[in-house]
Amino acid sequence: SLTLGIVGLPNVGKSTLFNALTRNEAIAANYPFATIEPNVGVVPLPDSRLDKLAEMFDSARTMPATVSFVDIAGIVQGASEGQGLGNKFLANIREADAICQVIRVFEDSDIVHVDGDVNPSSDIETINTELILADLQTLEKALPRLEKEARTHKERRPALEAAKEAKEILDAGQTLFAAGRGKETPELAELNLLTTKPFLYVFNADEGVLSDEAKLQELRDLVAPGDAVFLDAKVESELLELDEESAQELLSSIGQPEPGLNALARAGFHTLGLQTYLTAGPKEARAWTIRQGATAPEAAGAIHSDFQRGFIKAEIVSYEQLVEAGSMNAARTAGKVRMEGKDYVMHDGDVVEFRFNV
Ligand code: GDP
Repeated sequence: SLTLGIVGLPNVGKSTLFNALTRNEAIAANYPFATIEPNVGVVPLPDSRLDKLAEMFDSARTMPATVSFVDIAGIVQGASEGQGLGNKFLANIREADAICQVIRVFEDSDIVHVDGDVNPSSDIETINTELILADLQTLEKALPRLEKEARTHKERRPALEAAKEAKEILDAGQTLFAAGRGKETPELAELNLLTTKPFLYVFNADEGVLSDEAKLQELRDLVAPGDAVFLDAKVESELLELDEESAQELLSSIGQPEPGLNALARAGFHTLGLQTYLTAGPKEARAWTIRQGATAPEAAGAIHSDFQRGFIKAEIVSYEQLVEAGSMNAARTAGKVRMEGKDYVMHDGDVVEFRFNV
C-alpha cells in the first residue's frame, strides 16, 4: 500500500507523533498487520458513513480505510552541519510515495532546537535544500547518459528535456513538486527524484497556535501547494491513554473538535491522491482504498485480484442517495442504483456491489 515517509529535524516531535501512530489500539485490533513492521504506523481514516451503513445493513463491524506512515530513522542529523543526508536515509525516502515533514512550532525552552530557535520557515528550507541537493546529484549522474541516448534515439528526447528543465528548477532552489513537476510528469518518473513526491507538512504546535486561525493560515501559505496539518504531538500521545470521555474532555479543553490524527489521516489520503468506496453486508461495512480516477475493475481489484480479472459490472449507488432512500431496495425502486461497466470512473463514497466471474 502507499506510504508517507516521516522526515524532520531532530527534536521536532517525530518520535512522539510516531508513537501515537503505532499505539493506536483500535486499529491494532482490526488490522493485525499494522504492528508487524516496527517502523510503520497506521492511522484509520475516520468515516462516519460506515456507522450509518453498518446500521442499515446490520453489519457485525466496520472497517475504515487506513493510511500508513513510515518512520525514517536518523533524520537529517548531519544536515545542519553540512554533512548532507545518508544513503540509507535517501533510499528510505525514495521508497515512500509522499514525504511527511514534521515541523516544530511549539515553544519549550527545555528542548533545544538544532538551529537555535523555533523557525518553521527555516526548518522547511533546511529539509528542502537537502532533498534538492540529493536530486541534483541524481540528475548530474543521469544527464550525460540521457544526452547520449537522445542523440541516437529520438524517443528519448522528452526524457532529456524534462531532466534539463528539472535541473533548472532545482538550481533555482525550488522542489519539483512545488514547481508543478510532480507525479504528472511521466518523463521524470524513471529518475525517481525525491522532490517530485507530494509533500504533507505536520506542524507540531501548542494549543495557543492551534486555535489561532490567522497563524494557521500563515503556516498553510508557507507550504502550499503541500498539504498542512496542525496538531500537538504530545496531546495526541496522551489521548491514546484515555477513555473516550476523558479524551473528549481533553480535546475540548484545548478547543479541538477531534484528534489531530483524524486530520492527519484525511490529509495523508489527500496527499497520496487516494479516495474510498464503500461496501456493506452482514459481515462488515467497509471502506476500500483506491486512487482518485480509478475505474470500476481497479476498484474491484482492491478487494481481490480475481475480482478485477473476472469483473463483469458493478452495481453502484452514491452514499448520499442510498441514505436518502433509506435502504438498498428503496434505492433500487427509486432508480438510484446504476449498473456500471468497466470504463466507469469511481467516485468517493460510491456504495458498490461487484458482479464477477471467478
Ligand atoms: P524527534 O527528535 O523529532 O523524534 O522529537 P521527539 O519526539 O523525541 O521530541 C523531542 C522532545 O520534544 C521530547 O522531549 C518531547 O516530549 C517533546 N515534544 C514533542 N512534541 C511536543 C509538543 O507538541 N509540545 C511540547 N511542549 N513538547 C513536545
